[in-house]
Amino acid sequence: MNQNKLFQLTRWRLASWYAGVMGLILSLCGLGVYEAITHAHWVTIDRELESVAGTLHDSIEPLLKQPGRLEPAAEKLLPDICLAGQECQNSPTNPARHTAGALHQGAYYVRLVDLSERLIALAGSQPTGLPATSTEKLWRTLKDAGGNRYRQISLPLHTQNNRDWGYLQVGRSLKDFDDYLAAIAWILFLGLPIAMIAVAGAGWWLAGLAMQPIYRSYQQIQQFTSDAAHELRTPLAAIRATVESVLRMTHLSDCEARDTLRVIERQNHRLSQLVQDLLLLSRMDRETQPPNPQSQILCCLNDLISDVAEELADLAIAAGVKLTTDIRTNKPVAVVGDEEQLYRLVLNLVVNAIQYTPAGGQVTVILERGNHHAMIHVQDTGIGIVPAEQTRIFDRFYRVNSDRSRHTGGSGLGLPIAQAIAQAHQGSIQVSSILNKGSSFTILLPFR
Ligand code: ADP
Repeated sequence: MNQNKLFQLTRWRLASWYAGVMGLILSLCGLGVYEAITHAHWVTIDRELESVAGTLHDSIEPLLKQPGRLEPAAEKLLPDICLAGQECQNSPTNPARHTAGALHQGAYYVRLVDLSERLIALAGSQPTGLPATSTEKLWRTLKDAGGNRYRQISLPLHTQNNRDWGYLQVGRSLKDFDDYLAAIAWILFLGLPIAMIAVAGAGWWLAGLAMQPIYRSYQQIQQFTSDAAHELRTPLAAIRATVESVLRMTHLSDCEARDTLRVIERQNHRLSQLVQDLLLLSRMDRETQPPNPQSQILCCLNDLISDVAEELADLAIAAGVKLTTDIRTNKPVAVVGDEEQLYRLVLNLVVNAIQYTPAGGQVTVILERGNHHAMIHVQDTGIGIVPAEQTRIFDRFYRVNSDRSRHTGGSGLGLPIAQAIAQAHQGSIQVSSILNKGSSFTILLPFR
């Protein structure tokens, strides 16, 4: 297949399309997975922040008395608290001392701002260079001086007598989240080309696999065309040679004219027979639908075999072969089918048996009734066929011994036609043969 440019190009195209489409689908899937992971983590982080901020808010708020002033009791709740205007060191405190021990464990920070958004106190792990933000928005994503991202929530605080106190801002570093997303992005970024290479390889292999039957039938068509042309060329060349030789003659007697016409008639007959066979085969190839019910009648095989034997009696006598029939059933055997085609099927096998049996030999046509099939055996005591050829004789234009077969007038289409007819009737043909002893062809036709 790779030697044929058209097929190789098509295979490349198919593989490329396959890789392209699969690449697009994989990219979209990768993007979808990335988005889903991002979203799921984002939701988790927001929930976590909401819960930490909610706990702090509920613990601090009952202790607040005056707007903008942090009570000492509230200060104790926050780890590493640093009041505005004080010098603070980031010394780790025992988390167990604080209700908000979570602030120590995670990368959280807390900011307390008054109503005019002035910083009152800071707590937790303090990021450096984080800009002060307005309290208008509930959620914010910020960046510190080093480009690290933070997620922050702002909750309003009220005093015990329900006056506005200020705001509690709780934030968390997104470093672990960003690192995780970067790792996934790298996996997708590197994984996609590797997957694409694998997909392209698989596409190439699958395209080859899918094109094999097409290539085989393409080869068969090519072979068939060249065989058909070859077969048609022979009688045409004979007619041309005969006509040319007659045209070269200055005088043509009646007898010579008759001989010439006879040659032309014989070659013409051969041509017509060949064309008819080819048409029949191509019609049977096209017939994928069930056969026309009008042509399907109950055919009595007993009568059919007798008719074939009667028609070929002269041929058998001329060949010096004894042709007999053996009906091994009392009842008539009938199958549903096209009578004309079934006649042709048996005729082809019996003609072959006579032609490939030397004078003095015997051809027997046997009819038997099986449980599900009618069986017709065409047995001869002829030249036989070597085992290696027995599967090939059903190929179109195939002849075991071309010269000998051509001598019999055969074109190598008799058995393919017989097989096509048997298959069109859901039947089959089997062959068994011993070289120089004889052959037996068995037709199986199911009772439908
Ligand atoms: P052809 O028209 O040449 O007979 P067929 O398709 O009918 O073509 O047969 C194909 C080949 O099978 C023949 O060329 C012949 O060599 C072989 N063959 C068919 N029938 C017999 C037989 N009964 N005995 C021996 N050889 C046979």
